[in-house]
Amino acid sequence: MDQVVGRQSLPDSPRTFGFFVDGKRMEAGERAYFERRSPGHDVPVTRIPKCTREDLDLAVKAARRAFEDGRWSRIPAVERANVLLRAAQILRSRAAELAYWETLENGKPISQARAEVDGCAGMFEYAAGLARTLHGDAFNNLGDGMFGLVTREPIGVVGLITPWNFPFLILCERVPYILAAGCTIVAKPSEVTSATTLLLAEILSEAGLPDGCYNVVTGSGSVIGQAMTEHLDIDMVSFTGSTSVGRRCVEAAGGNFKKLGLELGGKNPQIVFADADLEDAADGVAFGIGFNTGQCCVSGSRLIVERSVASEFEKLVAAKLAKVKVGDPLDPSTQIGAITTTAQNTTILDYIARGKEEGARLVCGGGALDFGRGHYIAPTLFGDVTSAMAISRDEIFGPVLAVMPFDGEDEAIAMANDTVYGLAASVWTKNIDKALNVTRRVRAGRFWVNTTLAGGPELPLGGFKQSGWGREAGSYGIEEYTQIKSVHIEIGKREPWVR
Ligand code: NDP
Repeated sequence: MDQVVGRQSLPDSPRTFGFFVDGKRMEAGERAYFERRSPGHDVPVTRIPKCTREDLDLAVKAARRAFEDGRWSRIPAVERANVLLRAAQILRSRAAELAYWETLENGKPISQARAEVDGCAGMFEYAAGLARTLHGDAFNNLGDGMFGLVTREPIGVVGLITPWNFPFLILCERVPYILAAGCTIVAKPSEVTSATTLLLAEILSEAGLPDGCYNVVTGSGSVIGQAMTEHLDIDMVSFTGSTSVGRRCVEAAGGNFKKLGLELGGKNPQIVFADADLEDAADGVAFGIGFNTGQCCVSGSRLIVERSVASEFEKLVAAKLAKVKVGDPLDPSTQIGAITTTAQNTTILDYIARGKEEGARLVCGGGALDFGRGHYIAPTLFGDVTSAMAISRDEIFGPVLAVMPFDGEDEAIAMANDTVYGLAASVWTKNIDKALNVTRRVRAGRFWVNTTLAGGPELPLGGFKQSGWGREAGSYGIEEYTQIKSVHIEIGKREPWVR
């Protein structure tokens, strides 16, 4: 009998996945398996093959063959677009299944996972449009004898390394754009959240994607991820994860100077002015740190609030956080689920302990929540935080918010910029001049005014400073996966060089 938790059941036994190369599910055979336990329930849910470097080579060869013979890269863009549109349809029809496995492996609330899958379908639809509108440029101003063209070509074989916090969403912020550009893919999901990346392989095949265009090699980051960044036959790697591993990707990519797209860490400010709609801002700030248990590269983890309202605002946010429903990820009413990995759980609790030791004032939360099994942490708010404290500087990647008061716009901007990161920022004010000034002067790749964490396929993602290189999604997202070729065309006859 299935064990009933919330409104959905846990699987009787873990589901075994194969990896995916050249249009085929590959059985793990003699390879070892990684057994994933649901972080919310601590029961085994999936078994994922631990692939080898040889498996990676096989996948890269398949992706290379598929790229070079033009089965995808040289077909009319409308045909690529049609595959992406069919994929979106199938994805919507399998949304419940995708959300279920995402929740079991990641620990996020099932209703959130479901909304993310819907968002992913939208990514495929938008990228289908981009496939058809991608174009180059023409220079008709070079004189009678010369015509110039600038064309965009797919960059080639792309290695895609994705993390565990949004396994399917981050995948789908990249895959449709890479495919729309005409590239082929070897994907490596995080070892702990591989299921939905493998399910996407089935979906893309059913949608008509030719064999070899989307391959998935599962396994650990230190083996498969590292080998991908070093691989001489991969033309570009898109990596999303920690800044420290991003730095290793930069070193490893030097072998063939492959292009890198990097979306790395963040320590993102939420700037709240006294003239803001404080109720609304408090709700937004609570959402910004609570969403996905704060395991979000764009979490608003630093609350920079105007001193005159700091105390009132802190109370408002604490009241909101206390009302958020933390609990079983499979319960549709849950808003904050489980912490995804044991290591991450320890990291977050260590930072909470450090905040207390360093003299920050605990306003709410402050530790683990005991539901009998799984890892859960109460949304935590610290007041009296200084810029020297670790909780104000390091990316904690958990539901821990550090409050720091400011006096005046310039100080707010200086505090917001006082970080090595530059991924995202929010500002809350009813004054348009303040909103625009702050938006212009804070160095971050994504900005929200009187809202937070808004997204979608149209606007690009990516960071300033140590938050990364390049952009994903939007029209910029497809362009990243192309290279530019300049073509000079002689009209008539060249002026001879040899006389
Ligand atoms: P990592 O940066 O280690 O993991 C991200 C991805 O990189 C995973 O697929 C991982 O595989 C892979 N990877 C690991 N080592 C290598 C390597 N040497 N070369 C290439 N790929 C590699 O993040 P962690 O899981 O260790 O999390 C640590 C911290 O990173 C978090 O606390 C958070 O601060 C930050 N982080 C940021 C994310 C973001 O969205 N910007 C996402 C995740 C983490 P595998 O998981 O199989 O080892």
